[in-house]
Amino acid sequence: MILGYVVTGPDNDSYMLDGVNLSEAGICHACGLLLNFEYHNPDLKLRRATFDLSHCYDLGIIVSLRFKEFCIRHDYTGIRFSDFRALQNNYQLFIDNKIELDVIKRKIQFIKKCKHCHRYKEVIGATPAFLKNEEPIPNGFFASDLLFGSDNSKNPIMIVGSETREKLQTERIKGLWFEPIYTFSHWNTNLKPKPAEPKKWYQFW
Ligand SMILES: [Zn+2]
Repeated sequence: MILGYVVTGPDNDSYMLDGVNLSEAGICHACGLLLNFEYHNPDLKLRRATFDLSHCYDLGIIVSLRFKEFCIRHDYTGIRFSDFRALQNNYQLFIDNKIELDVIKRKIQFIKKCKHCHRYKEVIGATPAFLKNEEPIPNGFFASDLLFGSDNSKNPIMIVGSETREKLQTERIKGLWFEPIYTFSHWNTNLKPKPAEPKKWYQFW
């Protein structure tokens, strides 16, 4: 059974943290990680600004005016938009609605914990995503409770249910990729990659 979808767009060939003085932005002085990964750089230089939804290489989701108007028209709550000084029709999207992922079932890896801020240098295992509470995702936009990536390039995954997916597709919000989120038991039985069979001695020839 499909509970929802992980949504991704293309990269926009840009860095949110480009030209940003990290110590002014606020970092842990022991490990250098940003204190707030919902960082907004009002002077972002967006190299590719034609997408409805795209990702910076380091952090941040950028959306078009079309996408913003779509959200306003449908009264979606729990999301925020921040604008940029030099960009007319692009906004940074922040999602306050959080969904808890199942760390154990996904075997999410947490690497190098900082003794000072208690956060991790690297978190691996974003997809396939498994939900802690295996219920269909309601209408709206959601972000995972965990950030994935390494160093200061970390993002939550963006999640929608089938109703929101249909609306996005009907209104031709373009360039989005939807990866289904299945119940763990369905994935485990039907979709889990099978371990490769060990090669017989004669197959090495
Ligand atoms: Zn730290």
